Amino acid sequence: MNILIINAGSSSLKYQLMDPETGVVSAKGLCERIGIDGRLNHKVGENKVTKDIPMPTHSEAIAATLAILQDAECGVIKSVDEIDAVGHRVLHGGMEFFDSCIINDEVIAAIKKCIPLGPLHNPANLMGIEACQAVMPTTPQVAVFDTAFHMTMPPKAYRYAIPTEYYENDSIRRYGFHGTSHKYVAKRTAQLVGKTEFKMVNCHLGNGSSMSAVKDGKCQDTTMGLTPLAGVPMGTRSGDIDAAVVQFICNKYGMSVDECLNMLNKKSGMLAMSGVSSDFRDLEDGANNGNEDCALARAKFCYEVAKYVGAYAAALNGIDVLTFTAGVGENDSAVRADVCEYLGFLGVKIDPELNKKRGKEMMISTPDSKVQVWVVPTNEELMIAQDTAELVNAAK
Ligand code: ADP
Repeated sequence: MNILIINAGSSSLKYQLMDPETGVVSAKGLCERIGIDGRLNHKVGENKVTKDIPMPTHSEAIAATLAILQDAECGVIKSVDEIDAVGHRVLHGGMEFFDSCIINDEVIAAIKKCIPLGPLHNPANLMGIEACQAVMPTTPQVAVFDTAFHMTMPPKAYRYAIPTEYYENDSIRRYGFHGTSHKYVAKRTAQLVGKTEFKMVNCHLGNGSSMSAVKDGKCQDTTMGLTPLAGVPMGTRSGDIDAAVVQFICNKYGMSVDECLNMLNKKSGMLAMSGVSSDFRDLEDGANNGNEDCALARAKFCYEVAKYVGAYAAALNGIDVLTFTAGVGENDSAVRADVCEYLGFLGVKIDPELNKKRGKEMMISTPDSKVQVWVVPTNEELMIAQDTAELVNAAK
């Protein structure tokens, strides 16, 4: 089976053609500068091709993607008919979507209804969907939502303690993001530990970071909120902050709320605290060279991640498994070690030698650790491909 995975942003569109059973990616690429001029970066194995192609809208980007996938030289299919289905990543499913689903008119209307919750991403995601429908009208399309995995949270986890009218009238609540990654890691971890009933905390630590508390495969709580700004501090996001800080800064510096939120999303986090970079590799280099701000930024990050593990261990009444994933979680052994250092009280014990390895699926806890600690490289595209294949096969 061939599943085309589409992740459409406002001026870019990423694609992968994947076999959902083997996870083998036959081709992938990126259309960028959509609406400006248009460039296609296509990759088959180690062969890379870059082409300037006019892309006034997402329709031309999809057309260029389908053309290069069928190209005599760098293509991998002979006809669009070889694409069995398309899986679209959609940011916000609001309270409309609890799972992935086959796209029809009602689904499109419901994704539109969620635009106020995802004002930047959902319109772009819809452009990708509509462009695909126009050029491949008979190919099934599936929407996979970044929020859906978290929809099993109980109300005490997802409700904010603010007047009910904002929840009832405006759907303001915790949603959480990175759901496709959390779902993939939860499923994969169940295979790795060989059971389905267990309690885990998953740490998706990348440029954007979020954590989830998962019981028997179902999400019970997560750190991000109505938007991805909440939770642990991130590359450029502040993470949790007293809302009154916004009022203080706006009043004192004559900033609008939008400007202040832009600062909290794009100019805060590790970048702001270190004054050097949002990239954890640069923070480590800085800290190793005596830069105290870099050391403090890293320390703050590990402290907040460990605090949430503790909070979620309380929420779940203990944990059996702790997982690390995404750019930092998979590669930064020092962050993993520093986080686990706080968790001795839970019986977490990692093997420093095993923990030195990076980017590989592996258990890094010692045999006598009360909690199994795993590194599980995430694969959101595979999760999208599997969800898409499952829904399309079930509908046959
Ligand atoms: P996102 O998908 O949120 O953009 P990623 O999950 O790709 O982010 O993570 C990117 C981050 O991972 C980088 O900013 C970098 O800090 C970190 N990272 C990647 N490789 C390494 C490494 N070898 N050691 C430490 N950190 C790394």
